[in-house]
Amino acid sequence: TFFGGIGGASRKGILVKGSSYLEALAQADTVVFDKTGTLTRGVFAVSAVHPSLVGPDELLHLAAHVERNSTHPIAAALRDAYPNEDDSCEVTDAVERAGEGIVAKVNGRSVAVGNSRLMDAVGAKWTTCSGDTGTIIHVAIDGTYAGHVLISDEVKDDAAEAIAAIKREGVRRTVMLTGDREDVAKRVADELGLDEYHAELLPTDKVANVERLLSTEPEGARLAFVGDGINDAPVLARADVGIAMGAMGSDAAIEAADVVLMDDKPSKIAVAIQIARRTLGIAR
Ligand code: ADP
Ligand code: MG
Repeated sequence: TFFGGIGGASRKGILVKGSSYLEALAQADTVVFDKTGTLTRGVFAVSAVHPSLVGPDELLHLAAHVERNSTHPIAAALRDAYPNEDDSCEVTDAVERAGEGIVAKVNGRSVAVGNSRLMDAVGAKWTTCSGDTGTIIHVAIDGTYAGHVLISDEVKDDAAEAIAAIKREGVRRTVMLTGDREDVAKRVADELGLDEYHAELLPTDKVANVERLLSTEPEGARLAFVGDGINDAPVLARADVGIAMGAMGSDAAIEAADVVLMDDKPSKIAVAIQIARRTLGIAR
């Protein structure tokens, strides 16, 4: 009846790549989530602009043009904030840095757009303003700090219920890993009732956290990681069961994942665990 279980799951938009993953889902003890695009919608809106070197319009203009080279949800938000493409603006040599941001040449000037870690890397003395809330995207021009943009995201409608349902299926620990700031992470974790969260992580730090959690799992218990795919392939591969959210997932993530959800609803994870447990005749 493994086939029955895999078939039943696929009818609900849950693709399980083999019976061993159905078994692992049935024994899921810890479920680890990526934040952006997994628990939150990943649809950011710009809420404030704090320029310090150039005017607010130029700050947004530069950020939007650099972000034309990125598929990150943050990039889409910054492009939308300055929708008119400027043909006189030449953007070259774009280099994206996972978990940090992106650097590119705009009309010969090196423009860095990303978090405080990226500002430190390019030697720009970043600042924040009192009252800044949400995700902060800093901009530097030729290593000089040029200001920051505040953007905000929302938790998905079904995320809180999804966490509660996963717990009802017997999962002991729910954990969120994110590259975003501590205060943003804390707010989401509190709102959703997660057991643990870790913020300001690089993709390699996410792998290290999953390894630490794996090493503290009880005998026979399994760890699942759920991500939207952007920069998640290494953690998806490291978990006992890697679950990719299909709608936004990259090809690399779908490849690295053991389970693919055809839509991006976190509530499908509890459904997957429930199907797995019933198939294996484990009742809780
Ligand atoms: P999460 O862990 O929340 O899914 P990521 O690891 O993808 O987030 O990114 C972590 C952080 O890196 C973001 O919060 C942002 O500060 C920065 N970042 C990543 N990509 C970009 C980008 N294209 N533009 C600006 N900032 C970015
Ligand atoms: Mg992510």
